Amino acid sequence: MREKGTIQKEVYLSGVGIHSGEKVDLILKPSSSGEIIFRRTDLSNLELNLDIKKIESKNSINLVSKGCKIQTLEHLMAVLFMSGINSLIVELNGSEIPAMDGSASPFVREIHRAGIRQLPDRQKSIKILQPFVIQEKEASVSFHPDQAFKITYSIEYDHPFIRRQELGLTVNKENFITEIAPARTFGFLKDVPALRAQGLTLGGSLDNAVVLDEIGVISGPLRFPDEFVRHKILDLIGDLSLLAFPLVGHCKADKAGHRLHLKAVRFLLDNPEYWTFE
Ligand SMILES: [Zn+2]
Repeated sequence: MREKGTIQKEVYLSGVGIHSGEKVDLILKPSSSGEIIFRRTDLSNLELNLDIKKIESKNSINLVSKGCKIQTLEHLMAVLFMSGINSLIVELNGSEIPAMDGSASPFVREIHRAGIRQLPDRQKSIKILQPFVIQEKEASVSFHPDQAFKITYSIEYDHPFIRRQELGLTVNKENFITEIAPARTFGFLKDVPALRAQGLTLGGSLDNAVVLDEIGVISGPLRFPDEFVRHKILDLIGDLSLLAFPLVGHCKADKAGHRLHLKAVRFLLDNPEYWTFE
């Protein structure tokens, strides 16, 4: 078990939503409610609580409730999860968490500048007891018993800058900040017209994503040679945060994405014979 946490003081961030293209101001406020509550200040302070039953995935993880939505939760949620922050008000005046630089580092920086306050309650963890796999064609997400929180991710793209990348690590607060949080969203220039036709990536730019054309990266130098697979790990951590408890076990993902991550998280919560609280 570990402590529950909130932040010591308010955090302000502002930027553009990568899908909506809207400019959004985000304020994180300390809370002792034990929950993460989203508040839309542009909709008369309508409050939405984080509930996996109200989560949808469409190139991002979105909370859809009470006739409105909040898009692209995953990078902020990954930071809250790895920082042990589970009691918070997330106030925003638009429908999407700002993309910032496409990574989770700006959230890490501001939250750690504000400081984390431990709450008196203790929090259980979900410990995997027996392995299971969720498979769809070539993609899979599996969970295995382990003494720690581990992730192994592999991806494969027919692109000279990616090809096959695999990374496995025992994830902790420290290496999350240095090895995973800085990895940025990536996308292919050739996919942009089709995504925009669906109302996606309207706010995407060379400033908030690693953009690849047919032969290389057109958005400047990479932060890591394997930044792509590191970003997939960041997205997976954000999606695993929907368990609402820390995970003790090894999650392996191969060519997966938000939709399959979410399916695996839902399967785990619906099938308690695979895990126990500890
Ligand atoms: Zn992402």
